[in-house]
Amino acid sequence: CGIVGYVGMRKAAPILLNGLKRLEYRGYDSAGLVTVAKSGSRRYRVVGRVQNLDKLVKGLDLPMTCGIAHTRWATHGKPNETNAHPHTDETQQFYVVHNGIIENHEKLRAGLEADGAHFHTETDTEVIVQLIAKFFDGSLEAAVEEALKHLEGTFGIAAVSAADPMKIVVARRGSPVIIGIGKDEMFVASDVSAIVQYTDQVIYMEDNELAVLTPGDYQMMSFDHKPIQRETFQIDWKV
Ligand code: GLU
Repeated sequence: CGIVGYVGMRKAAPILLNGLKRLEYRGYDSAGLVTVAKSGSRRYRVVGRVQNLDKLVKGLDLPMTCGIAHTRWATHGKPNETNAHPHTDETQQFYVVHNGIIENHEKLRAGLEADGAHFHTETDTEVIVQLIAKFFDGSLEAAVEEALKHLEGTFGIAAVSAADPMKIVVARRGSPVIIGIGKDEMFVASDVSAIVQYTDQVIYMEDNELAVLTPGDYQMMSFDHKPIQRETFQIDWKV
């Protein structure tokens, strides 16, 4: 349903929570976030309101400056804590948030399980993170690219890796993804209202595009790795 991501110099958690609150009007059944670090990422998920997530995270020391967050509107799997995003792989290195529906998730799941993967949720989304873990060979964006080749259906996704904790890889087909460009910080959201309080410079991604965000830079490309240049768009409203 809703996606927010941040990579930069500030603590990610408050920015992610603010973004999720701005997306509340869209409706959702659960919410979650992860902040990423080599020494151990921290994931929190709740059923119900973003306020519950806020309460859970408040008072915790979360110094990480990169993270992704989600409000879920369940399509596959009950709206419970286990099925709330972000989803992760067995080694808890990769985390993914996803909007949309992976139509061929059952087939992908069966193939991954035959290869030895263990699934922990009932969601269609979990196949994405399991595929990324399977294909990872040092580069998160290469693993995401490879994973996307197998997906049928719709997605807006944001993915992170604890081994490379200052990077977010995003992609879309059929679900909106917007990049927000700040000074030494990058944002991503499914709806501009989640990030407009932080930056007015945005890029609306189009279908079949992928982007790699680091604090000082972003690179956009097609799913077959051709570079894409797009004008930034200046938002002329403030929240
Ligand atoms: N299909 C995914 C799920 O059920 C994502 C739903 C959404 O867009 O929030 O978890």
